[in-house]
Amino acid sequence: MSKRSLKSADVRGKRVLCRVDFNVPMADGQVTDDTRIKAALPTITWLREHGARIILCSHLGRPKGKVVEALRLAPVGKRLGELLGIDVTTASDVAGDDARRAAASLQDGDVMLLENLRFEPGEEQNAPAFARQLASLADLYVDDAFGAAHRAHASTEGVAHLLPAYLGFLMQQEIDALSRLLDNPATPFVAIIGGAKVSDKIEVLEHLVDRVSALLIGGGMANTFLLATGDDIGASLAEPDLVDRARQILDTARAAGVEVGLPTDVVVARQIEDDEGAVVSVDSIGDRAVFDIGPATAEAYANQVARARTVFWNGPLGVAENPAFAAGTRTVAQAVASAHGLTVIGGGDSIAAIEALGLADRIDHISTGGGASLEFLEGKQLPGIAVIPDADATKPEPASPAQTGEEA
Ligand code: ADP
Ligand code: MG
Repeated sequence: MSKRSLKSADVRGKRVLCRVDFNVPMADGQVTDDTRIKAALPTITWLREHGARIILCSHLGRPKGKVVEALRLAPVGKRLGELLGIDVTTASDVAGDDARRAAASLQDGDVMLLENLRFEPGEEQNAPAFARQLASLADLYVDDAFGAAHRAHASTEGVAHLLPAYLGFLMQQEIDALSRLLDNPATPFVAIIGGAKVSDKIEVLEHLVDRVSALLIGGGMANTFLLATGDDIGASLAEPDLVDRARQILDTARAAGVEVGLPTDVVVARQIEDDEGAVVSVDSIGDRAVFDIGPATAEAYANQVARARTVFWNGPLGVAENPAFAAGTRTVAQAVASAHGLTVIGGGDSIAAIEALGLADRIDHISTGGGASLEFLEGKQLPGIAVIPDADATKPEPASPAQTGEEA
């Protein structure tokens, strides 16, 4: 089912409240990585070209309902202005007098940014009064914040009930790419799941296990699976209380004819900060700990990826921050970059790894939403998506408070 796209909106001369994900890394009052700002540009540019008066809003960090000076959005507004080549006003409040004044003085094609949404306690509480206050600034609502779509907050959910609501282009792109993994993916479909803990990813594993052709497991979480198959994992990180669920995933895979890849060789060491590891077979871990998959396992996974027509990768295969344990992740990353099939990557650390290797532009889709992309692949309905009307919705539009002049 497709959701109503921004393309179908008549935005000329209208004030458009657009939720974006500008939760960017900052240091000393400067944006240190503007990837997320750039990701929102297609929607912002389209809105400008179509004569909208654009009111952007985002959260930054975790101010927990209070003003935190270091988490003001002005540096983000400045960076956005540089990227667009225009002045972008950042209001000094979220939806108070300053925001209201700035919104009222916008001309067609102008762009402003509200102050950090999470300065307001009503944002995370999805408080109706705060949602009304946000809605009163605008005539239309566009959600382009995929990274926040798994949260039912005032700016991602509440406000969408109060204004005619549309999906932005980044949201659409994320939904399209992730849907291609769940709805009739081209086969063979290979999922590589790594990272620190099974507990973070167990629901994704459970949802994907009988949809993929092969599930290749690495990272710290592989240790729990090795426990489930009766291996001795020495001092490795594992979650013994999840061994039963891991075993169930293996059973489901067997019943569905899905191949599960577990490490056959591993890199072991005493400490995570050691500058050298030893490659051993999984039955010779001894009292050491596993910090990476071994070269034979990495090669086997790479071969599976090369043959796949759909590839999803989430989670480093080892402690990739330490060069001594980065080889498995590197081999798999190179295989994903070279794959002929559709390739999708999600997860902050996996993305950092692919970027550090300079391979990001060879991936079909890099998801901007960590938690949101995982929840999507768990098969959950994300509140920020669910609230947007379907493309063919016939339901009457909510009258916007801005149009009716109602006070918030
Ligand atoms: P992503 O952010 O891509 O979803 P995660 O956050 O789940 O990935 O996992 C990344 C973390 O997993 C990294 O900090 C990495 O050091 C850790 N990790 C990977 N393999 C191991 C391992 N064998 N032992 C301990 N930690 C590991
Ligand atoms: Mg992570």
